[in-house]
Amino acid sequence: MEALTWHGEKDVRVEEVPEPEIINPSDAIVEITATAICGSDLHLYNGKMPSMREGDVIGHEPMGVVVETGDDVETLEAGDRVVVPFTVSCGACWFCNQDLYSLCDNSNPNAELARQAMGQSPAGLLGYSHMLGGYAGGQAEYLRVPYADVGPVKVNSDMDDEEVLFLSDIFPTGYMAAENADIEANDTVAVWGCGPVGQFAIQSAEMLGADRVVAIDRVEERLEMAAEYGDAETINFEHEDVYDRLMELTGDRGPDRCIDAVGTEAHGMGLTSTADRVKQQAKMAHDRGYVLREAIKCCRKGGTLSVPGVYLGDVDSVPFGALMNKSLTVKTGQTHVQRYLDPLLEKIEDGDIDPSFVVTHEGSLQDGPDMYQKFNDKADGCIKSILKP
Ligand SMILES: [Zn+2]
Ligand SMILES: [Zn+2]
Repeated sequence: MEALTWHGEKDVRVEEVPEPEIINPSDAIVEITATAICGSDLHLYNGKMPSMREGDVIGHEPMGVVVETGDDVETLEAGDRVVVPFTVSCGACWFCNQDLYSLCDNSNPNAELARQAMGQSPAGLLGYSHMLGGYAGGQAEYLRVPYADVGPVKVNSDMDDEEVLFLSDIFPTGYMAAENADIEANDTVAVWGCGPVGQFAIQSAEMLGADRVVAIDRVEERLEMAAEYGDAETINFEHEDVYDRLMELTGDRGPDRCIDAVGTEAHGMGLTSTADRVKQQAKMAHDRGYVLREAIKCCRKGGTLSVPGVYLGDVDSVPFGALMNKSLTVKTGQTHVQRYLDPLLEKIEDGDIDPSFVVTHEGSLQDGPDMYQKFNDKADGCIKSILKP
């Protein structure tokens, strides 16, 4: 079958690879009908994620049709149309039982690698390095889905793929970011980063009762999308000072809730030297640690900082003193996708949101390398690409 494979920095290829097979009785094989490129795929693309190997099949936002199930699978059968979450979760461990699916204790066969880097291992993720499971990803014609009774959500309605595909990651991720921000009535919420996750965080903040949402980015079409679909006020940080503007908008109190939907690209799980990190940071005009620092500075006293953006290693110069003295609450984590699948599918089916607003580009697997490049360069107005194998 054809798949997108990783070969190093800025080197994604379309290659012929073996079709996946059932390995465990709880597996299912899904024929992919649509699969998206995610902002966090760019960490792989830019060579920032350790423990990638040449030829790894990437991608973690897939959906399709079940073609085969293992003997233990009870909830799915061939022919079912499913969206597959990026988090691989066993459904039976202590963490899964608390709905903390992205912290599953059983789904990372390479847990020891992650333990060495982080102290404990989070869940395995589809198509996202060997340290996080070594699972083949979903930018391919077929995908093996482990724990098939726990992950995929069945789509019974006849909605288009692009309306439900983003249940795999970015809609739940934006929604959990807004939930983690502990939004109350009359709150002003500031969202750094108007990529796909930021767009869903903005709309979710409004669903959860925010009074105002302020969207911060430097790419005009992303700010326009936030204003048009998310009803957000916008700040272009290349033209305005973010702190000054936020203080002006909030009567000098600062936004009640701050969401960092940018994340990092600068660091790599302690595998990069401090000197390298300093060099990398010096090269970046608005580096990723900068967003975290700015959000802490801007947030109102006693406010909440929610971080859905993916960080991979250490972040230099986090103003922990400001965080402590201003009594901020920080909430973060990879998304517990399985927790959100049913309620958010219901919101889509009820017409509360049509997630397809975020799609700017569509192509086939063959277009994958070109789409990665466009997305990485923020060229051609690219905000979200989907590939249809
Ligand atoms: Zn993603
Ligand atoms: Zn588990």
